[in-house]
Amino acid sequence: MKVAVVGGGISGLAAAFFLTQTKEHQVTLYEKDNRLGGKIRASEVGGILIEEGPDAFVTRSPEIFEIIEALGVEDQLIHPLANRALIYRKKALHHLPTGLTLGFPTANKHILANKILTPTERIVTFAKWRSAQARNQRARGDDLGNILEHYIGRSYTNNVLDPLIGGINAASIHGASAQITAPQVLDLLQGLQSVSQKEQPGKLLPPFASFTLGLDFLIKSLSQYLKSTGTIVLTDTPVSGLRTTDHGVEVVSRESHDSFDKVILATPSYFTSTLLQSIAPEPAALLRSIRRASVTMTTVLASGDLSHIDPQVSGVLVPRTQPYFTTAITIGPNKWPTWRSEEGVVLRISSGRLEERAHLGLDPETLLRLLMGEVQEILGTHMKVIDHRVTSWEESFVRFSPYHRQMVSKVRNKLAQESDSKIELAGSYLLGSGIPTCVKTAKLAAAKISNQIT
Ligand SMILES: Cc1cc2nc3c(=O)[nH]c(=O)nc-3n(C[C@H](O)[C@H](O)[C@H](O)COP(=O)(O)OP(=O)(O)OC[C@H]3O[C@@H](n4cnc5c(N)ncnc54)[C@H](O)[C@@H]3O)c2cc1C
Repeated sequence: MKVAVVGGGISGLAAAFFLTQTKEHQVTLYEKDNRLGGKIRASEVGGILIEEGPDAFVTRSPEIFEIIEALGVEDQLIHPLANRALIYRKKALHHLPTGLTLGFPTANKHILANKILTPTERIVTFAKWRSAQARNQRARGDDLGNILEHYIGRSYTNNVLDPLIGGINAASIHGASAQITAPQVLDLLQGLQSVSQKEQPGKLLPPFASFTLGLDFLIKSLSQYLKSTGTIVLTDTPVSGLRTTDHGVEVVSRESHDSFDKVILATPSYFTSTLLQSIAPEPAALLRSIRRASVTMTTVLASGDLSHIDPQVSGVLVPRTQPYFTTAITIGPNKWPTWRSEEGVVLRISSGRLEERAHLGLDPETLLRLLMGEVQEILGTHMKVIDHRVTSWEESFVRFSPYHRQMVSKVRNKLAQESDSKIELAGSYLLGSGIPTCVKTAKLAAAKISNQIT
């Protein structure tokens, strides 16, 4: 069977990988840029190769390990040296207690000794938490903010959980789908085994991983592997249209119209929507309604003394309640052994959340100056920038609104009907934006193409 994959980010590459596992398919992958990897991208700052987007993936999903094992690159895996976070609130840095489940308390001390909250907030939060346990009444709906407030109250939700869970998603947890954004917390609240325990891939690994040569190594290894299987990988080849025919699907790119039996679309939701507009108008409209946040990632090599920061701390989170452009700071040398320099400290500074777009209007030098002012205040030290890079990621973070999963089921079912199951979807807007979840959607799409799943 001839199958096209559109999009050469991790979702498209993983889809091509899973298709090649059955040996029945001749796969062609189309990528619009001159490189593969999409949001997985690295470049040098101060002579060190540093990711511009994602720098780690969670190790709890088995599908990505199928790829890692097939590529024979397990021995290249590395894990963050530090995994503790600080929260900056009321002009001070506070440790997150250890033993939380995605920020949610599992013991009294997580509230009573939690210095992120004021003494009064701790008492109010504790009372709320105990009364929610005594009432044993489940929160309804799929709005994560509402659910968490129901169990733990507003102060803890806004000052601890929102920077942590919302920070990962570049948006508030209020108005976020609980099923997609924090399934571990839902499991915990329902007294179930946590997802991270259920999905462990055989051996127990630290929760996050990357590779000695960074995440780009996975992309390079995967594209080499695909070429060795006979997959045709076309870079610099944007797809501009799709047409279903009696026999399959026609893919339009530049001047050429190529016919395939089936297609996997692994492009961002807004472009997938454009491609589907004439084939499946209802799914296209639903995909178009998905909102996205734009973020900026500013990476600096800077001189300065951070010896007052515990080496176990990999970063600082800044709650939405604080008036800063900075949303998070990764302390490079504490996190990755490869992000170390004799000359200074590597910091990655994130800015921007859903509907917070002021950072996008600033030129890179102004943004850098502004962020460095904030960073020095937050970290409590003077710093001088030696080298820097500002990466703008427009419309890059998917907003998973309540009942997103149900909307995606509708999209998939309708698309299967309207395309006669000739088109499948993979990508970060379906089940969650983490790299392993993208890989999971790719495996599912490949299995459907191969009729292994109906
Ligand atoms: C700043 C940032 C930090 C992140 N941090 C993490 C993290 O630490 N851990 C984690 O797990 N996830 C993280 N993520 C999320 C993760 O990076 C993404 O969800 C994931 O990489 C998306 O992969 P994808 O293949 O679905 O999409 P993309 O990477 O967007 O790939 C889509 C591809 O489709 C191509 N394309 C688009 N239009 C066309 C066309 N017309 N024809 C052909 N090709 C086309 C694009 O060029 C692109 O290569 C982060 C994201 C960002 C932006």
